[in-house]
Amino acid sequence: MARPEPGAAVFVKDLPEPQAGPGQVRVRISKAAICGTDRHIFHWDPSIAPLLSPPVVIGHEFCGHIDQVGAEVTGWEEGDYVSAEMHIVCGKCRACRAGNQHVCEDTEIAGLHCDGAFAEFVVVPSQNLVRLDPAVVPPHIGAFLDALGNAVHTVQAASSIAGRHILLSGYGAIGAMAAAVVEFEGAASLCITEVAPGHLSRAREWVSKLNGPVPVHVFDPREEGTAEKIRQITGGGVDVVLEMSGAPPAINMGLELLYPGGEMMMLGLPSGSDLSLEGFARNVIFKGLHLHGVVGRRIFATWTEMLGLLARGLNIEHIVTHRLPLSSFTEGIGLLDAAEAHKVILDPTT
Ligand SMILES: [Zn+2]
Ligand SMILES: [Zn+2]
Repeated sequence: MARPEPGAAVFVKDLPEPQAGPGQVRVRISKAAICGTDRHIFHWDPSIAPLLSPPVVIGHEFCGHIDQVGAEVTGWEEGDYVSAEMHIVCGKCRACRAGNQHVCEDTEIAGLHCDGAFAEFVVVPSQNLVRLDPAVVPPHIGAFLDALGNAVHTVQAASSIAGRHILLSGYGAIGAMAAAVVEFEGAASLCITEVAPGHLSRAREWVSKLNGPVPVHVFDPREEGTAEKIRQITGGGVDVVLEMSGAPPAINMGLELLYPGGEMMMLGLPSGSDLSLEGFARNVIFKGLHLHGVVGRRIFATWTEMLGLLARGLNIEHIVTHRLPLSSFTEGIGLLDAAEAHKVILDPTT
């Protein structure tokens, strides 16, 4: 990202190799992945443009091997296989001191505020590193643990999943991973709603290959009778909504379908900053709902949990739809814009 303009301002350029300073390590990147945030940056979306001061290397989802260890770093060596939390938090604000580093008031995001991972090397603070086991996390999965963390954080924010009826709205990459976690954790049922044809067909394809005990249903919510069908499947209403779309009709449908006492985990960002809720008194207050905003990943509890899920056999292979050389970044953005991809993995070595 070089100039503050949409699209055309993102290009491939030779930069000097970054050096690990005190407390930092340099990682040689094996694989990286494109995130929705990178798309917003590429399109110079007003929601994100003010946060960037180009030139900056974008990208925040990656894994690789440490190839340089800075001064004052202990516990890490050249060759260690790692990913990293790219939210660099202050450790001093009230949120950090309360153990809520994921909502630190003074967060700096590598790949946004400072140089990130769409490169051959990235320099990160050693305290942000996460050690990976190559037997559990191959590089094409290690490339997008950041996004898996959003999915796991959203699911784990619910008071429980096992034995409960779950509605998941929005089967983009993070929604698809959240669906896999819900299925893995043994919900009573999982209903998925999605409107983009590509994502809908990927949801149906995923369901057709499942052979576990959890009934999973996929709906285009614009089809007549969808709410009634979901009520029938769930015995009158859902216990938990995982809202991954940010689409106002999906949020309102979720509130409408929640059974009294239910909970909604809200990760999806509405375009524009406001949202109007329909039947607020009836659907939220009188049902005694819990609404929970979800941002980022808990540092580092979510990382530990997601690595635990992968070690126990959580399968997210189907999330990887494309593998491209790093130089084909623009092609990857196009695939994501058209909802033709879930995760596009970028390889800086090809
Ligand atoms: Zn991301
Ligand atoms: Zn802080």
